[in-house]
Parts: sequence; C-alpha cells; structure tokens
Amino acid sequence: MARNKVQFQKGLSEAEFDDLYGTEEKCRAVVFGWRWPSGFECPTCGGARHSIIKTRRLYQCTGCRRQTSLIAGTIFAATKASLRTWFRAMYHLTQSKGGISSIELGRRLGVTQTTAWKIKHKLMQVMMERDAGKRLKGRIEMDDAYLGGARSGGKRGRGSPGKTPIVAAVETTPEGKPIRLKLRRVNGFRRSEIARLAKNGFDPGSNVVSDGLRCFAAVTEAGCSHQTIITGSGRKAALTPAFKWVNTALANIKNAMTGTYRAIRSKHVPRYLAEFEYRFNRRYDLAAMMPRLGYVAVRTPPMPYRLLKLAEVGA
Ligand SMILES: [Zn+2]
Repeated sequence: MARNKVQFQKGLSEAEFDDLYGTEEKCRAVVFGWRWPSGFECPTCGGARHSIIKTRRLYQCTGCRRQTSLIAGTIFAATKASLRTWFRAMYHLTQSKGGISSIELGRRLGVTQTTAWKIKHKLMQVMMERDAGKRLKGRIEMDDAYLGGARSGGKRGRGSPGKTPIVAAVETTPEGKPIRLKLRRVNGFRRSEIARLAKNGFDPGSNVVSDGLRCFAAVTEAGCSHQTIITGSGRKAALTPAFKWVNTALANIKNAMTGTYRAIRSKHVPRYLAEFEYRFNRRYDLAAMMPRLGYVAVRTPPMPYRLLKLAEVGA
C-alpha cells in the first residue's frame, strides 16, 4: 500500500465507535465475545456449563463451582473504571497517530490523570507483551538514538529523565520498503547488548544494514550478516537511502516523545516504544486496530499498579 493510503485511510470514526461500543452493555457483550468466542469457559476446569449470579454479575461454573467475573484474570481486572471508559481509552490510543499523553487522555475520558495513567500504561503493557516475541527477518535497517536528556539551551530540571539509549530496527523488502519495526531500549551501545537484541529479535540469516557504529557488528553473533554503510552524521546521514525508513521512524518517535510526552522516565521508555511500534506495525488497518487490541487485552494477565510503576515487565 502506498504511503498516502496509510495517511488518508478512514480509521474508526467516533460515530462508528459509538454504534459499536457506546454503552456499558455493548462493551460487556464485546468483551465476552473476545474472551469466550465459543461460549463461556471456566478458567479453572474448562467447563462450559454455568449459571449467572445476576446481582454480582458473576459466572458460576456448574462443574467446579468457581465464580468468575467477565474481567477477572485480564488486564481490565480490579478496575474502578467502566469498560466503556477502557474502550474509549483503547480508541484514543490506537487512532491518534502521535500518541496521547495521560493528561490529555484523562481530560477526554473525564477521569483523573492518575486513573488515565494507569489505564494507558496497562494498555501499553498489552502492546508490549503482544509484540515482544515477534522477530524481524530478511533485510533489516538498524540505527541508534538517544531519547530525552537536556533540551538545547534549556536547563536540566530535577527529575529530568536523562538520556536513554535506544535501537530502532526496520525490516524492509529487498527494495527497501518498510514492513515491520522494532524499537528497544538498550543498556548502552555495547556489543553484548546488540548481540542480545539480535538473538531475541532477528531471525538467523537476516542481513542487517547499519552505519559505522562498531557494536552493531555483534549481530553476527546471532547468525545475521552485517553490512556497514558509512554515512557521516546529521543531515547527510538522514539522506542516505539505505537508512531511509529507520531514520524516518526515529525522527517520528523523537517528535512524538517531545511533542506529546514531556518527561518520560527511563524505566518506562520500553512501554512508550512498544506503543509506537504497535501502531506502526498495524498502520495498514487503522480501523481494526482497536478490536485487535481488545482481543489481546483480555488475554493479558492483570498488572497491579505497584508493578506498573516499578518498571517494564516482559520486555
Ligand atoms: Zn469449573
């Protein structure tokens, strides 16, 4: 698909969204369908026969008597927010191109920023776990960048997140058209870090194209071949056709990070990268992105706030 078709596709309109997910009952029915596509299944024994405890909206298994709710064991568990609020959050996260800050999300959902932050980070966790195991293959453009740190001319304030080293890799067709993006935080640009990233993320036999940064040669430890193209730096590098897509992706994410998000803690960077990566990799089907996220969300285990604040899990 040509690039302009990505940019101008319709996506899911707010009117369509309201038709599909506009009430709590509609959302419950949709979640039921995502979670149990062929009818109720007991999470303990797998039994299908059940009764409904209407007052508490619980399902009770006839076989083992286990009671379960629609959202128990999913990322929506233990939430005070309505499912309708979660659905609207999924809508904003998937349909806004540059991402949405938790302040803005809170405003749109009519909830506190803390509630919006929790919802957003739980959904970003879903995105991260979903794409963590997907590997790139064939021709891969790779480049390095730093996120955050001091702004030019500005004074570094307290709690400034500092610079976080990241690596971007784009799988392309042999002609250099982008297929799939991977963004990862690394603990410095070291051979051991690049080797780990390549072993986890690239198929052996891939051909990695990068500039002169020496640690990138470590992709050979993961069975990949490595081609170095010396580009120089700055504007000249950005214009080198071999790195067109990886440079575009890095420029976009830096814009999104500085424009949408004021300060990101280094420990939370992987989730922000996952959010960006998730949207990029599904850019050809904007309208389907929301239900696909919901389907995965009911298959992602709960993530308590305590863990969410601690750091990324499962990256
Ligand atoms: Zn059971």
